[in-house]
Amino acid sequence: MGELTALLTEGTSLEQILPPQSLVQPHPPCVNAGAQLAASAPSNANRALDDWAAPREQGTCRKREQQRRNLLPRQKDLLVVLERHDIWVFHSSTVDPYFALQVVTAGPFKQKTPTDGSPLPPATWSSLALPPSVSSTTPSANESHSDTATPPQGHHNSRIHSHIPERTPSASIGQRPGPVPRIVVAPSPETLTQCIIPDEDPQQLIETAEKDSDGGDGDEDGVGDGLGEEDEVPDEEDEADDEEGVEQEGNNAPRVKSTRRPLPKWLLEPFKARVAESSAPHRDANGLPPLYSHHKTFWFPHPSTFFFLHPSSTRTTPQDLFDPRFFLWDPDALCPRGIPCPNCHTVLQRHQVISQPRRCVDFDHTFWIIGYRYQCQKCIHPKSKKATVTFRSWDQRILAVLPPSLALEFPARLSHRSGVSTSLFSWMRSCFNYGLGSKQFSDTIRMQHILRYEMLELQYLEQVASRTLDDWFQLKYEAFPRFDDLGPLGPHLYTPSAALLRDLYDDFIDEHRPEINQHTAMLSANICAIDHSHKIAKQTMRVGGEQPFTAILSLTNEKNEIRACNFVATKSHSQYELALRNVHDSLDLYGHPQPSLIYADNISDKKFLEDCFPSLREGVTPVEKYGHLEELVVPSGVPILIKNTSEAINDAMRTILDDIPEDEGSIIIGFDSEWNVEVSPQGKVTRRGRTAIIQIAYKSRIYILQVADMLANNELPQQLRLLLSHPRVIKSGRLVNSDLKYLQTACKSPNPFVGGLDLAKYAKDRRVITNAQCSLADLCAITLAKRLNKNVPERVSPPQA
Ligand SMILES: [Zn+2]
Repeated sequence: MGELTALLTEGTSLEQILPPQSLVQPHPPCVNAGAQLAASAPSNANRALDDWAAPREQGTCRKREQQRRNLLPRQKDLLVVLERHDIWVFHSSTVDPYFALQVVTAGPFKQKTPTDGSPLPPATWSSLALPPSVSSTTPSANESHSDTATPPQGHHNSRIHSHIPERTPSASIGQRPGPVPRIVVAPSPETLTQCIIPDEDPQQLIETAEKDSDGGDGDEDGVGDGLGEEDEVPDEEDEADDEEGVEQEGNNAPRVKSTRRPLPKWLLEPFKARVAESSAPHRDANGLPPLYSHHKTFWFPHPSTFFFLHPSSTRTTPQDLFDPRFFLWDPDALCPRGIPCPNCHTVLQRHQVISQPRRCVDFDHTFWIIGYRYQCQKCIHPKSKKATVTFRSWDQRILAVLPPSLALEFPARLSHRSGVSTSLFSWMRSCFNYGLGSKQFSDTIRMQHILRYEMLELQYLEQVASRTLDDWFQLKYEAFPRFDDLGPLGPHLYTPSAALLRDLYDDFIDEHRPEINQHTAMLSANICAIDHSHKIAKQTMRVGGEQPFTAILSLTNEKNEIRACNFVATKSHSQYELALRNVHDSLDLYGHPQPSLIYADNISDKKFLEDCFPSLREGVTPVEKYGHLEELVVPSGVPILIKNTSEAINDAMRTILDDIPEDEGSIIIGFDSEWNVEVSPQGKVTRRGRTAIIQIAYKSRIYILQVADMLANNELPQQLRLLLSHPRVIKSGRLVNSDLKYLQTACKSPNPFVGGLDLAKYAKDRRVITNAQCSLADLCAITLAKRLNKNVPERVSPPQA
């Protein structure tokens, strides 16, 4: 059987449980400032839990934090008993502490049922030792117990005091880092006959019987349990406020009831004081609390830390320095004509103050909103069938019906249980906008809060250290709790997680979707850039394991503002044609000029973009590749002779054929042909049409032969065929052989058309150029230093009717 080394409760003092002589420390445990400056020791049970958890859990802080939360009692009615290797958890509201101790000390964990309520032998009690990590109240609190080592009988089912005991952190002398404890959750006496559940998993959540400890704000008026609220937030966001809002028809999602952590005393007492000083007796004739009528502010005055540390204030505790800030939100007092019910427009009545303040996180501190419930006399609660519908004063629906100038005073953006100040939220939006992610932002805020808290500690310690005479007087000071202390004396330092911040941001964007769309539609788009991004699409939801979108297309304007943003399934033009046409229309609608320039990474989009924005074509002259060179023009003495009949062509060709030398040698002609093309609806050339024109240059004559009609009948003039098939007529040109081959096929010539001379190949063979693929314009520029005005491979005229 393990030695009982620690015992603590959330709802009672140790002296109420233990015989006084078992308390090894006669005085309240304390630590002097110097010792704490050395930052030596855990100051309370939380830290002890943390340290116990540490050896096993070498993982992240988050993991440890989660684990500690799981270890901690989540309800003040829990009795937690730390035994050397184990943690026992009892429902102290229903279990007598003595009974709990018997369960722990009477036998090994295998024993399922405590045998009976027989008192433990004195030897067991004398072995009790209070470890320094456990705190206690002053000995004066234990008058109810006698000196006997045997616990008095008749204490069963006595309810443990629900107040939070005054506890002081203790020194760490004699701290033994024990093995990792396991948690044993003991059920309430009704179920104790079944078993005590041995718990292997320290990660397991402690389940508690839900008890309404709220005193008057619970279910008796039908507003206490939770429908009509936002989604459940992750457990880590779970904090003090679990007020429930009004039931709303059609919003009947069942909510998991969660346990309520009691407010620490340093928060609860100022809260109650603020509520009291704003209550009805102190209000003026108009129902205004003094804060509104005299101070003209929503914020309660907040002294600076220094004034808590003033030499005249002798015994300052760390908790005094926490001094929570409060914001009083009772807009009803400021609306002379009352607040209309969001449902039925009946004037709402102030019902009561909300029993716990709402925590809101700011840059480096937390403030608390004191709110009220407003009741509608007409709306009928769907569950209770009575007029019990209430709204919290910070409800989004109430804020929506307030005069905007008043609603804008509300300082926070609330999540389900928590909130972020509006200024912090705006700052977050800017951070997201300029590249700081939610994780980084969350970490930043946490650092700021911790820093501020540690400055507070520094201030405290400096003050204590300056009181040099105290040592002589044997005065001791309480240790400053760690920032992550969630005990009754801890600061409960909380900052929102990255996920919560992201959710808040998403909600905000969702709320403002129409405005954002409208704003985007009204932006100019004079100089744009268009591109696909594949990164975002990877983050989108998958449907059946498939990405529904492969990319997001964005069109940005000259100010780098997004002008269009479109998820696309493929990179096909049809996927975003509509978006671009809408941009075109909205530019017209709002009086902006159409785009004059679009940057794109794919030149094949040129025509598509020009079709969407015809303005792109306006005033554009394609730049010639060899613009610096003189244009190659037909010399003035060279006639251009157009021949369009067989006879004329035959005559013209005969004059060339006559020049062929009798036996050997050859003549050279310039040769080219032009043809029609067939164009797809997307503007792509799909097929070469029939040759329409043959151009032949010989000596100082240029013939243009219009042969389209003849080729339609699969024939060519006889002299032309003779010329094309003559091996000693060298047809020079670019890609001339394919032209010849085509003509040969088209007119079904029995003799092959030969004698083609590809100028590019010819030039490469002579090392004039290095690449035989170069164009006629390149050849022209390189060999003649002239510019050939032919830089478009196809010239497409509008389709003919
Ligand atoms: Zn109503």
